[in-house]
Amino acid sequence: MWRELLPVGRHAGTGGYRRYAWTAADAECRDWFRDQARARGLGYEVDRNGNQWAWLGDPAAGDAVVTGSHLDSVPDGGAFDGPLGVVSSFAALDELRARGARPARPLAVVNFGDEEGARFGLACVGSRLAAGQLTPEAAHRLKDADGVTLPQAMERAGYDPGAIGPDPERLARIGAFVELHVEQGRALDLSGHRVGIASAIWPHGRWRFDFRGEANHAGTTRLEDRRDPMLTYAETVLAARKKARLAGALATFGKVAVEPNGVNAIPSLVRGWLDSRAADQETLDAVVAEIERSARRRGERDGVAVDVVRESFTPVVEFGHALRDRLAALLGDAPVLPTGAGHDAGILSGSVPTAMLFVRNPTGVSHSPAETAAEDDCLAGVTALADVLEGLACS
Ligand SMILES: [Zn+2]
Repeated sequence: MWRELLPVGRHAGTGGYRRYAWTAADAECRDWFRDQARARGLGYEVDRNGNQWAWLGDPAAGDAVVTGSHLDSVPDGGAFDGPLGVVSSFAALDELRARGARPARPLAVVNFGDEEGARFGLACVGSRLAAGQLTPEAAHRLKDADGVTLPQAMERAGYDPGAIGPDPERLARIGAFVELHVEQGRALDLSGHRVGIASAIWPHGRWRFDFRGEANHAGTTRLEDRRDPMLTYAETVLAARKKARLAGALATFGKVAVEPNGVNAIPSLVRGWLDSRAADQETLDAVVAEIERSARRRGERDGVAVDVVRESFTPVVEFGHALRDRLAALLGDAPVLPTGAGHDAGILSGSVPTAMLFVRNPTGVSHSPAETAAEDDCLAGVTALADVLEGLACS
């Protein structure tokens, strides 16, 4: 499976993946998923939101055990974030067949569309729509950097966007959802385990900071006459780091847009996107409020107007204890740990019993071409997932 998947959407220069929702690379990934389903004789379907499903057994029977993840990527992402979950899901089904396991409940593999939000700026669009956490109206307003709307992008990729929206009947078929994912940190490596179980996902969100000053000539404008939003932005980045450190939270400005973006021009506008996360809501709210306060204070000094818009937010997700404990019992000594990364599993957990498995990441690096996992650890992940599916669906 990896041999076919690895070249898809890989940028020759960076070695990273650019599999953005509803692009040609995404279409290749989706074709790959469909072919994997067909090669195994699984029932294949695409739901109203463009998520792909591969069924072993009758979906209408209900109480299904579903596993899977996503195939899209962040800009220049790694090979494992998302695809490891999908590949492991198919491999786990193969393992169940090899064991001669007889499922008493339907099993399915799912590929949720547009998990990373790299193109339209909102993460987990496929699962959010299905779970009713994103309205069709709001989804219709999503636009990429070229002004292409989500419905236009879906249409161009050959999908009908007319029916996007909540899919309660489909979710009602699911008795349990388990997402396997490469770990995006080093907790497993530090604890010496190959596979872990998720306890919770930190609350997290994205905020857009607009710093508006005045464009002018870099060579003729006296320093004291400038209204330079880059200065305010720079101070805000430093403040964010400090506030996060003091609160035990995380804050990152990872994306920035500058107008007019000329070497010899003082910018008129700097737009920076803040990603912030913390173990609890109160801490996160406090950190973001402090960053915003500090941006405004500095903006006053620089003659720069500051606007802050929250673009997305995901509250804390505490995975249900019953399913989590079941997984822990099935997997023996797998540690239970929280994560700062959002996942489709976090979205689904509001609608169906949901759990996550993590596979050791030896460097902790993720969202980068350097993201990696050892083959032995990936195989341990497949075995663990097969154990879980067998325990849940075949008993
Ligand atoms: Zn992921």
